[in-house]
Amino acid sequence: MYSYSQDSLFCEAVALDSIAKTIGTPCYVYSGQSILDAYRAYDEAFGDMPHTVCYAVKANSSLGVLALLAKAGAGFDIVSGGELFRVLQAGGDPKRIVFSGVGKTAEEVERALSAGIHSFNCESEDELTLIDGVAGKMGLTARFALRVNPDVNASTHPYISTGLRDHKFGIDIVEAEAVYERSRRFANLTAESVSCHIGSQILKIGPILEAAEKVLALIDRLRARGFQIGTIDLGGGLGIAYKPRERAPDIRVFIEKIRARLQSSGLAVMLEPGRSIVGPAGVLLTRVLYRKRSPKKEFVVVDAAMNDLIRPSLYQSHHDIIPLHRNGRGKITADVVGPVCETGDFLARDREIADVKAGDLLAVCAAGAYGFVQSSNYNSRLRAAEVLVEGDRWRVIRRRESMEDLVRGEVLN
Ligand SMILES: *Cc1c(COP(=O)(O)O)cnc(C)c1O
Repeated sequence: MYSYSQDSLFCEAVALDSIAKTIGTPCYVYSGQSILDAYRAYDEAFGDMPHTVCYAVKANSSLGVLALLAKAGAGFDIVSGGELFRVLQAGGDPKRIVFSGVGKTAEEVERALSAGIHSFNCESEDELTLIDGVAGKMGLTARFALRVNPDVNASTHPYISTGLRDHKFGIDIVEAEAVYERSRRFANLTAESVSCHIGSQILKIGPILEAAEKVLALIDRLRARGFQIGTIDLGGGLGIAYKPRERAPDIRVFIEKIRARLQSSGLAVMLEPGRSIVGPAGVLLTRVLYRKRSPKKEFVVVDAAMNDLIRPSLYQSHHDIIPLHRNGRGKITADVVGPVCETGDFLARDREIADVKAGDLLAVCAAGAYGFVQSSNYNSRLRAAEVLVEGDRWRVIRRRESMEDLVRGEVLN
């Protein structure tokens, strides 16, 4: 959805510099079409097979993005009471919400049950005990899946790999059968599904399919024990192309593989994709403040920083950085850094980029997922604005923070 026309970078039919000039930088821009295309790629590839695509809210939880997906019929995967609140605010259907996460509180569980969410993905027996208790008090029955840890290596960055035995997530798949068995004592719980999620930014789908095989085998054993497991939840995790020559798995091909394997199982499939839906749809627009040179290095100082986009600093991740106007001046190799007082504050290191000068505008690409949601006020910087583009129109879906926002809730004496 991003392309150059007469050397100016466009998102759909909107010239990005018109957005930057109107609302300033840094700002995030999302292509509505790109988000919907990715969601529909998942949804349509399932065909008539029963399925729910639960968008993982944590990847980008802005109301404007959630509302777009809610209108398209998406379900939602949430990990906190705050995300539940957001989904409901955005008009999401509570009956299509699944609640994941390793540390749900009693208050969060109660809110989720009052809202009438579909089910909980549970990660410990203590959690089952808690949900059973809350549901009992409310006179309700809660549907649940155990999130099992299939001990499969997702081959991704260690911080976003979750499916190995020594990770905090899930219940060891070897122990899961016994935990389901013991869950029979909970009068207010129904075992409906088995879930897994082995990591994020997975570029080869083999490990996901391997995890699916292990979960399927477990479901067979559970069914033999009389559990009516009707759903398999394979989590999210499909990667996207961040680097120029990186190839992301094709969503439709991936789903086709899952469908072929599961069609005859009689199971409904649930998926929880986040990054692959919103990641490629977003860019972070930033303006060059200064050029500067040290004896060893060239620096491009921009007005976006690690507080706006922490992925390069946190995961050493690569984001392409391209000019909003191609100026024909050739290339330089530089570190692209922000104003935050940390050596770790960089958007790119030793990167070949366009030969820009102060005042030029840049787009940091593929920043739609785990971008704004991880932003902070570090260095008392105001959090960026967000814009949604739809065709030849654009609108602000989050205003840039003000100084008043910065100190909201603080008490002087
Ligand atoms: C983070 C997460 C997802 C989404 O992962 P992506 O890599 O963004 O697709 C899905 N399910 C669970 C349980 C998660 O923690």
